[in-house]
Amino acid sequence: MTSLPIVQSEAASAGRRPAMPPRHLADLDVSAREEALVALGEPKFRARQLSTHYFGRLVRDPDAMTDLPAASRAKIAGDLLPRLLTPVREMACDDGATRKALWRLHDGSLVESVLMGYPDRVTVCISSQAGCGMACPFCATGQAGLTRNLSTAEIVDQAVYLAGVAASGAVAGSPPRLSHVVFMGMGEPLANYNRVLAAVRRLTSPAPEGLGLSQRHITISTVGLVPAMRKLADEDLQVTLALSLHAPDDDLRDELVPVNQRWKVAEVLDAAWHYADRTGRRVSVEYAMIKDVNDQPWRADLLGRLLAGRLAHVNLIPLNPTPGSRWDASAKPVEREFVRRLRAAGVSTTVRDTRGREIDGACGQLAAAEVTTT
Ligand code: SAH
Repeated sequence: MTSLPIVQSEAASAGRRPAMPPRHLADLDVSAREEALVALGEPKFRARQLSTHYFGRLVRDPDAMTDLPAASRAKIAGDLLPRLLTPVREMACDDGATRKALWRLHDGSLVESVLMGYPDRVTVCISSQAGCGMACPFCATGQAGLTRNLSTAEIVDQAVYLAGVAASGAVAGSPPRLSHVVFMGMGEPLANYNRVLAAVRRLTSPAPEGLGLSQRHITISTVGLVPAMRKLADEDLQVTLALSLHAPDDDLRDELVPVNQRWKVAEVLDAAWHYADRTGRRVSVEYAMIKDVNDQPWRADLLGRLLAGRLAHVNLIPLNPTPGSRWDASAKPVEREFVRRLRAAGVSTTVRDTRGREIDGACGQLAAAEVTTT
């Protein structure tokens, strides 16, 4: 097996075990919630009341939970709704339609989430790990290495928190209800498989068990961890799979997506087609357009041949600038020619609108640096 340049942070490479956060309601399924309340000396049905507050009404302040006995509120919330995310900074752009939240976790790790409002939907882009170990050289998150996996509740709470922001009417011109979640923030979701899967279940279970989102409105994006992609295909879920391909040939993909040294383009595409077969869902192929690196006409043609006739859609992402990167976005005429060639091959293709560039909230820009403001 090829050894991979997986990047680890100092703490991880020094062998210190990263500290996971305290247990939270969103970590638990319904029966575990009931057990937790019984262990606190409360009746089982309080699990449903508490879940209705958190998932159904997006309420986390115990004082607002007036159907719980005043004497028990603090105890119940203290045990089951510990604060997992402390907002450090919120930034907005696109006239408030894009908002990036920077959170501090209980161990000081920083992660980011992005809320994006459109006329017909509200999407949140959430993180699944603090940092990332996949080392893609064009991605800011990949440069810092992996600190740790997020817990299920740390993942879910980003969506619940920002669903509350949307519900408050903060995203002008968009519906107030969060409708879509994309695992395209910091981290490689399939490297934190079990917690991400549990998070998907919490996000999609009907309220009050979960947030009640449609499975079809959840997208999991991966660098291409083939065994995990195959496992996901067998979960009987209707979530969308996005594959960060970025190059149609192994020579270049080995460099742009280092995990390709382990699972080659042909294998990763096979796993994607297996996912499409099992779920009937179109796989989204992500391709960052990098000037003079992966944007040549012959690469468009090769990509077209690989994808033609498959249940796939290509999302071209104009490369977003990241600190210290030697790469730029492709010129617009080059991008247009790339699109034209893919479409001529019969492959459905769109160019992603890159939200949040000014606030470093766009794809690949999430690095969670805390800037000291004066
Ligand atoms: N680790 C997962 C989830 C991150 S999703 C994955 O790689 O799929 C973020 C998407 O943005 C991925 O497709 C990623 O490759 C892409 N991306 C990363 N850096 C980027 C950059 N600087 N410009 C444009 N897209 C980028």
